[in-house]
Amino acid sequence: MRIERLSPRVAEQIAAGEVIERPAAVVKELLENSLDAGATEVAVTLRDGGKALIEVIDNGHGINVQDLPLALARHATSKLRSIEDLESLRTLGFRGEALASIGAVSRLTVLSRPPDSAAQAHSISLDHSTLELSQAHPEPATFGHFLGSPHGTRIRSEGLFSQIPARLKFLKSAGSELSAVREWMERLALAHPAVGFRLYSDDKTVLNLRPQSQEQRVREIVAEGEDFPIRTAESQAPGLKLKVYWVQGMSLAHTRNLIQLVNGRALRDRLIQQAMLGPFRQALLPGKFPAACAFLEVDPREIDVNVHPTKTEIRFLESRKLFSGFDQALGGLVRDHGSISYVASPLSSDVRTAPQPGFILGASETLGSQPPIQSPSLGLEEKSINQGLHPALAGFTPSQFLGVLFRTYLAFDIGDELGLVDQHAAHERIRFEALKARALKRASSKDSQALLIPEVARFDPSQQSELEPRLSLLSQLGFEAEIFGPGQLLFRAIPPEWTTNDLRVRLKNLIDRLLSLELAVESSRTQTQTGESLLLDEKLFEKLASEACRSSIRAGDRLEAWGAATLIQQLSRCEHPWNCPHGRPTVTRVPRARFEEWFQRTV
Ligand code: ADP
Ligand code: MG
Repeated sequence: MRIERLSPRVAEQIAAGEVIERPAAVVKELLENSLDAGATEVAVTLRDGGKALIEVIDNGHGINVQDLPLALARHATSKLRSIEDLESLRTLGFRGEALASIGAVSRLTVLSRPPDSAAQAHSISLDHSTLELSQAHPEPATFGHFLGSPHGTRIRSEGLFSQIPARLKFLKSAGSELSAVREWMERLALAHPAVGFRLYSDDKTVLNLRPQSQEQRVREIVAEGEDFPIRTAESQAPGLKLKVYWVQGMSLAHTRNLIQLVNGRALRDRLIQQAMLGPFRQALLPGKFPAACAFLEVDPREIDVNVHPTKTEIRFLESRKLFSGFDQALGGLVRDHGSISYVASPLSSDVRTAPQPGFILGASETLGSQPPIQSPSLGLEEKSINQGLHPALAGFTPSQFLGVLFRTYLAFDIGDELGLVDQHAAHERIRFEALKARALKRASSKDSQALLIPEVARFDPSQQSELEPRLSLLSQLGFEAEIFGPGQLLFRAIPPEWTTNDLRVRLKNLIDRLLSLELAVESSRTQTQTGESLLLDEKLFEKLASEACRSSIRAGDRLEAWGAATLIQQLSRCEHPWNCPHGRPTVTRVPRARFEEWFQRTV
């Protein structure tokens, strides 16, 4: 084919495709304009999920009648004059192309009235088949005091993609489009809690957020109105201020409640998400995510917001600052409060499973290689048991021990709460950290328990060459093992944390796990201490160690009060007492208020 210039209409439609992919993108752009115009109230109306109509009304400062035609032109903006202005940008928009793009793919009408009391409301529309702009014409007084303000703007986009079948067929059901709109609206609403946001869909009210405090809005949106404790922390570095809210006890199967706001801008940036999830690593069940919201104030010179067509990703000059900011703030929260799960509401059992504190290399030395508690350790003073306990576990004393529930849960009467500890999960955590502490000290085989009768575990002989280089990992964990014959690994000693129950099966699982590990040759950490090798790959180690801890504790070990309290004590010395190594919660607290609800003592 020869080269030809595209017709202006096709060129516009193609350019629009970068910015506008679905109704949610239209709503996001229009709301950003409303916020840039200083609106304190915005209302969005959809018909058929936005396919028939998207309307956004605001009470912002409006557009002068002389400027109306320009507002719809591509590369026309009131927010930026020179490229240097990008360095000090405070508005959400800056490219001057949203309205032009929306006008290229739908019937666009803009109605606006500036605050000047003499000014009248004017309306202008764009014919998207000819790209012709109507004359701005005064609108009768029916328009006016919307949202309690005589000034503002109403923008309508009708028949989105109706002329572009190739795009139209990619739109989802009205319901899915509505929920995508709602999601973006909620993010922007979090970034601007002093602004009221309403969403109507086919005459139903979907969202009605009144102006409120940041914390209230976080509760309403991120915690979905549930009464989980909300923890906050801040951290600061030159050019970067971070405030995080974390909904303790809420864990979800998706990342929708993991929200990033940078300078009032709602983003879906992969790097930020990674930095936010870091502190929760290892302590989350696979496929589970926390609910948290991060407010970042960044010096505009430190970021580039102009890297993504829909402005949902940005580039950081120094991403390290970002990671250490999150480690400090979120990591600190998780360490201080733990993720004791609270029973939120009798009806919301699906979100009850606890989160997820992070995991930091360098396990607590105090644990050493103490064996797990098997029998009551007599002679401990109640006082001494409580010493040095994590504040959140301090209430669990022997005299408050009620007994064992379902042969699994230790129950404690702790003031206005019922404390429940999953003894198996707690044991796993304690053993895991002991194992890890010892492995990190590289004391290896000294701390093993010799087996009276060595145990043989079998593996596929063809995998011998893969197994051999990994055996050093086993010895660092406290196993003594050698290849004994084709497909046979002989274990002479096991770590003291291991019991001998079902030993053969567990050793077999361990080998399977060992063989399934990807031995990555990576990470700067590894290079700094070559030779010490694999163990330094934290993730690798954790996988193996958590497998090692997945033992079959006999169900129904009956613990006495002292044994139970000693377990709590050991648990509390763990770096991450709140979850077993696989992310299941170890501790749950049921507030008294919950019981009163059950027995209808509260109205
Ligand atoms: P940008 O936001 O990047 O400037 P847009 O195409 O979104 O580009 O908008 C073009 C211009 O129209 C804006 O710069 C602004 O001056 C004006 N404008 C758009 N929407 C509104 C609104 N709701 N209230 C006031 N002015 C608006
Ligand atoms: Mg804009």
